[in-house]
Amino acid sequence: MKYSMAGLKNNRTLRILNAAAEGNYGVLAAIAYNIEQLTALVRAAEAKRSPLIIQLFPSTLTQLPLLAHAAAQAVKTASVPLSLHIDHAQDEAHIREIIATLPVDSVMVDMSHYDEAENLAKTERLTRECHARGIAVEAESGRINGGEDGIADTGDLEALFTSPEDVDNFISAGVDILAPSVGNVHGDYGPAGPAEGQIHFDRLEAIDKQIDKRVLVALHGTNDFPPEVMGRCIRAGAVKLNVNKLLLEVGNEVLRKEAATLPLVRLIDRQMEVVQRETERWMDVVGSSGRAA
Ligand SMILES: [Zn+2]
Repeated sequence: MKYSMAGLKNNRTLRILNAAAEGNYGVLAAIAYNIEQLTALVRAAEAKRSPLIIQLFPSTLTQLPLLAHAAAQAVKTASVPLSLHIDHAQDEAHIREIIATLPVDSVMVDMSHYDEAENLAKTERLTRECHARGIAVEAESGRINGGEDGIADTGDLEALFTSPEDVDNFISAGVDILAPSVGNVHGDYGPAGPAEGQIHFDRLEAIDKQIDKRVLVALHGTNDFPPEVMGRCIRAGAVKLNVNKLLLEVGNEVLRKEAATLPLVRLIDRQMEVVQRETERWMDVVGSSGRAA
């Protein structure tokens, strides 16, 4: 893997993902909305001796400003490789504030709500600014449909698959990680996961071949994924696996079912227990268990 800048050589997110690409396994990039989820994710990584990327949404940085500092502290003190990533940062001023004030390892610079030329120009400029601070950058090529917390919904736009030209354009813009659009959507697929044929594994494989190790591949939109779909995506080249509901829903269920009967402290424990267990299960699925050096 080439690094666009020497300052990125020790970047935590890229080190974790490069090791995974070399070892042919995937790494969970898991969203946390609160300290319970963050704690459960970190405990799972340590219990499984697994690398892990912790992801926060820009809206969470505003809602719970202390969470980024707690996550950064976990990254510093954990006994396994962790990194802190900001998912879907869509506001340029906020991105500049984030990289200037928070100890983040990587940011998804998501300018996909602009037209193509503007998207690329803005991505290139912001990537330079992130790299100057040693922060790695992920971008989305094509358009991944659907809405997520605090993220502008692109649902009214046609879902656009990533083209070979998109891939080259974003690599030229200097990004380190690319999130292609291959039939994956933000939001829910339904309890059975994506419909047969919805995820274009062949397209993902062709993109990975074209990339030829110049950047790393991230996969967004994994809600309701069965393990075998996740496995096929990893075999087709995806290394950074963005997960949200896939890990957290079991904890939300505990809150919904047990909030009226359990004392608060016990409720917090129960939520952390189930999220940790679910995270450990998915670390086994993606093959990252036992990979922490
Ligand atoms: Zn996403």
